[in-house]
Amino acid sequence: MIVEQIWTANSGRNFNYLIACGETGEALAVDPLDHAKCLDPLDHAKCLEAAKAKGWTITQILNTHHHRDHTGGNDQVVAATHAKLLAHANASDQIEGIDRGLRAGDVIKVGRTVELECLDTPGHTMSHICVRSRGDVPALFCGDTLFNAGAGNCHNGGHPNELYNTFAAQLAKLPDSTLVYPGHDYISNNLRFTLDREPDNAKAKELLPAMERQDTTKALVTTLALEKEINTFFRLSSPSVIKRLREAFPDLPEHPDQKTVFLKLRELRNKW
Ligand SMILES: [Zn+2]
Ligand SMILES: [Zn+2]
Repeated sequence: MIVEQIWTANSGRNFNYLIACGETGEALAVDPLDHAKCLDPLDHAKCLEAAKAKGWTITQILNTHHHRDHTGGNDQVVAATHAKLLAHANASDQIEGIDRGLRAGDVIKVGRTVELECLDTPGHTMSHICVRSRGDVPALFCGDTLFNAGAGNCHNGGHPNELYNTFAAQLAKLPDSTLVYPGHDYISNNLRFTLDREPDNAKAKELLPAMERQDTTKALVTTLALEKEINTFFRLSSPSVIKRLREAFPDLPEHPDQKTVFLKLRELRNKW
């Protein structure tokens, strides 16, 4: 499996991806964006251009969810490649032209060597798909569910209870070595939130200056192990997270359950 992370340079800080089979050159485009979302008109159709540069053929498109910044390039890529459009089976009233509706456990094959397993991951929206690769190097393409050092918001069709369940029952249980490929670059801001919630988080403190300077065309790809260190939404039992949370919410018990901590963190992040 070859992964090409594409920095769109738009105001939403979106990442697009190509996931390709090294043997056949077939590729899956994840959440391709159209030119209207890009700042520079020459930046249009980045997935098409990246595929062309690599000599790959885009045969499938995956939309992780229905938000326009994840579906805006569908028509353009389909017109250019006749690729099949894949999205959550329950998103057919939100995304036009789905060729294959996806459910938990479904497998997407790309060429001969790539197999991606679908995870049904509600929370950011109620019909959100993440995919994980099978193989030597596990990888997770997580749309707007999990970000580097953060979690998706629930403002536009989602719910924090569902997001917690997705984190606790699915994402936290993936192998620590899983590479994390999110739909946006928000890492600097998210690390600042982690440090606001957990000022003694040494790893987040160490990482922040480098992330503020990072070249997003070669962005850091984190692992789930690193996320468990720097992502406050995975640090629900941390004594300093809980101590700080009880300053903001004095009614919280001394040992709040993990779901309560997650929901309170999500609530604070909404206003932060
Ligand atoms: Zn979204
Ligand atoms: Zn998004």
